[in-house]
Amino acid sequence: MAHYCKLHKTPWFKKGKMRGYAHPIEDTGEWCNEPEEDTPEDTPPAKEIAKPISTSETVKPQMSREDWAEKDKITRKSIERQKSVECAVMLCQSAQIKPDEILTYAKTFEEFISRAL
Ligand SMILES: [Zn+2]
Repeated sequence: MAHYCKLHKTPWFKKGKMRGYAHPIEDTGEWCNEPEEDTPEDTPPAKEIAKPISTSETVKPQMSREDWAEKDKITRKSIERQKSVECAVMLCQSAQIKPDEILTYAKTFEEFISRAL
């Protein structure tokens, strides 16, 4: 269907010094020129034009200062608890406390660390 005039149902052709594809219009002596933008070579495939733009994957919610503060608080709390249990376990290992006292001591350490901050 390249270089085919749908209006006159006539194929356009190009030869000699012709600037572009065209065909003579019957009985009029005039020429019908092929519009350049309608050539198949210049027309991008439809699937590229209709490509949907996905926003759901590219847009991520921004973390506000409050979000960061909350995240920092949770992280710090987690570290506090971890450190507290470590200290209690160390006490247990050095036979200072009994294993069933670890959590009690850990809680005490945790409270101490929290107060220090
Ligand atoms: Zn035509």
